Amino acid sequence: METTNKLQQVWNKRPLIISGPCSAETEEQLMSTAERLAKTGKVDVLRAGIWKPRTKPGLFEGVGTKGLPWLQNAKKATGLLTTVEVATAKHVEDALQFEVDILWIGARTTVNPFSVQEVADALKGVDIPVLIKNPINPDLELWSGAIERIQKVGVKNIGMIHRGFSNYGNTEYRNAPMWHLPIEMKRRFPEMMLICDPSHICGNRTLLQSVAQKSIDLDFDGLIVESHIDPDNAWSDAKQQITPETFGKMLEDLKWRSETSDKEDFVNALAKLREQINHVDDELLTLLSQRMKIAEKIGNYKRENNITILQTGRWNDILQKGIERGSKLDLSEEFITKYLDAVHLESISHQNKIMNS
Ligand code: PEP
Ligand code: MN
Repeated sequence: METTNKLQQVWNKRPLIISGPCSAETEEQLMSTAERLAKTGKVDVLRAGIWKPRTKPGLFEGVGTKGLPWLQNAKKATGLLTTVEVATAKHVEDALQFEVDILWIGARTTVNPFSVQEVADALKGVDIPVLIKNPINPDLELWSGAIERIQKVGVKNIGMIHRGFSNYGNTEYRNAPMWHLPIEMKRRFPEMMLICDPSHICGNRTLLQSVAQKSIDLDFDGLIVESHIDPDNAWSDAKQQITPETFGKMLEDLKWRSETSDKEDFVNALAKLREQINHVDDELLTLLSQRMKIAEKIGNYKRENNITILQTGRWNDILQKGIERGSKLDLSEEFITKYLDAVHLESISHQNKIMNS
């Protein structure tokens, strides 16, 4: 009963902080990590991979069920709650038997509806919180689908973990954050906890702090970060792990922000500026509508003179001028290109209607 209350309390805590090794390796490693994490006074839940889904065969695939009592002992010694990744019904059964507090579904499992359903079926009638990582590919339907499968069996406490999306070839990140995707998930599931996994986004230590900060600035609810007593010699994901103390320092240096404030000055200033934005947005839409009306007139002339809608030269000209003007106005080339692309497409569709009416 007590644990249940504590679990609910931790689950509702903001920010929720989870840390621990990518993989449990030995009982001593796990215990020592847990003790040092607990000592920071800033960590709520101990994570450790027991069954590791490895992209290629021949790598360390986790210690398996024998690691579960290690977690249990670490919990007893430190008071940290525990979480492990599950991918099969057997994993769920074993984790429940050894009183793991929170389960998580990994990115390589979320992509597979068969696996997610198997985990969901094993959770029927079980009241344990579940965190669901995004699938490795940027497909929000798969992510939402996994959430729905777990919801459908009656699990009440569900959270999302953003761990980035895999890409082909070398990029700055191991898994591109594509921040607009977790933001869209927040829109779809406004009440659901969303935490960030900077470790698997970055794949290295140098970017961790800035990615964690970015997630806080985007109003994420917490962090899950891999930590290890000897990061360089970790049996999996060595490059991205940090010591418990480094993680403690990282948490200290993060600037925590809240979504709102009831300070009167702030509320008033924000309301005024938002009013200005609404006004500008309104004007922009009016101008865009005027622009389309002009395009329609052009469409009429083109129809009478049997001229194509698309004229590549003219379009290139608009784009080039837009980018030049944009750079003087502090608008990025990427934004101008996307904006003009959208305007151009809308123009073409208006002209199309005229041409074929
Ligand atoms: C992990 O958390 O160690 C892991 C395997 O992550 P992901 O599922 O995000 O790749
Ligand atoms: Mn890992």
